Amino acid sequence: MRIPLFLLPLLLAGSLAAQDIPSVKEQAKRYVDTLAGPAFHGRGYVLGGDSLAAEWIAGQFDRIGLEKLNGKRFQAFTFPVNSFPDSVSVRVDGNLLEPGVDYLVDPSSGPSEGTYELVHLTLRDLATPERKAMTMGVVMGHAAVLRFTPSTNSDTLALYAALEHELSRYVPVIRQGGKKLTWSVSGTQARNAIIEVREGVLSDSARTAIIRVNNHFIPRHNARNVWGVAKAKGGSKDWLMVTAHYDHLGMMGQALFPGANDNASGVSMLLCLAEWFQKHPPKVNILLVAFAGEEAGLKGSEWFVVDRPIDMTRIRMLINLDLNGTGEEGITVVNATAQQAVYDKLVAINEQTKDLPQVKARGPACNSDHCPFAQKGIPAIFIYTMGGVSYYHDVMDRPETLPLTKFDGLHRTLVTLLSTLK
Ligand SMILES: [Zn+2]
Repeated sequence: MRIPLFLLPLLLAGSLAAQDIPSVKEQAKRYVDTLAGPAFHGRGYVLGGDSLAAEWIAGQFDRIGLEKLNGKRFQAFTFPVNSFPDSVSVRVDGNLLEPGVDYLVDPSSGPSEGTYELVHLTLRDLATPERKAMTMGVVMGHAAVLRFTPSTNSDTLALYAALEHELSRYVPVIRQGGKKLTWSVSGTQARNAIIEVREGVLSDSARTAIIRVNNHFIPRHNARNVWGVAKAKGGSKDWLMVTAHYDHLGMMGQALFPGANDNASGVSMLLCLAEWFQKHPPKVNILLVAFAGEEAGLKGSEWFVVDRPIDMTRIRMLINLDLNGTGEEGITVVNATAQQAVYDKLVAINEQTKDLPQVKARGPACNSDHCPFAQKGIPAIFIYTMGGVSYYHDVMDRPETLPLTKFDGLHRTLVTLLSTLK
């Protein structure tokens, strides 16, 4: 059969057609189970969790056959972090509370150990300098329970935080939280324990608390980004970057934060893309980076743009993957309004394949590792999936409940996008 020359490009493109790309969901599930399993201790700052995850990802990059960058598999850096390796316990009027479910130790908490009378405070008790001085006199030697009216106003929240911080210099502080407990990571430590209890757990008649919280502050935590290169076939000097942070929150004493959706899912997508492009060399070099320290404040990506291991002017596009484990309601593309061309391409691909229920555009937001790049003027987008389970920064974000609903569809979409970007 003779094929008219003008049809060749179409046929070649057709050889990469979405339907030809095999399912990667089973493989992704194995990756998520491993990364979010107990062996990596929540990929944070207890039992060397983040470092163990880094080693494992490096091993996967080796197995897949990705090249090193500048002869290295890792990019090392340090940052300060507060951690909670020792088991924590909070008992109120004799009832033992469940860590991670009934309460959180604030990420910036210091240590407190003892039995404390509870002094319940509202904003009025701290409103004027005179009143505050009186209140401090009463609180000394006890623990303060802060019963501030819930607010979404940023000024009000800043005031709450400042008062809490001030009180924590003298006494343990228990903050009345909402229905959902959301943990994070801090690079500072307070002088006493700060605890957040879930709404309904601590009655306003509670009298005493037995608190045992011990933090371990690490001024220079050694962290590593992990990278690998899928080399272009024609010797291109340009780069596409695909990134996903592998760190999560680690452990709060005995409570494990598995981080299945955040971001074992994105790292799994990174690994599945690495496997694809190692077998199907791209037109432009692809640098795949698993970032450390994202939850501690985008530390890994910030270090990358300072360290500049590649010619940053050669980065054609960076695609950051974070929270890729659902998809019932499609995907959101952060920074789409600033990167209209790549967003339009994603929409066009999806119009052909109908792989995703929706490709939603969102403006710039400094909410993941694309941000330090975008701030330097490097074209960058961030893709997360929507719908499905909504566990986030809590002990429930587990592999068993992560649906990976549109993982195959998103993988096909990204393969097609990365194969056509130049
Ligand atoms: Zn994340």
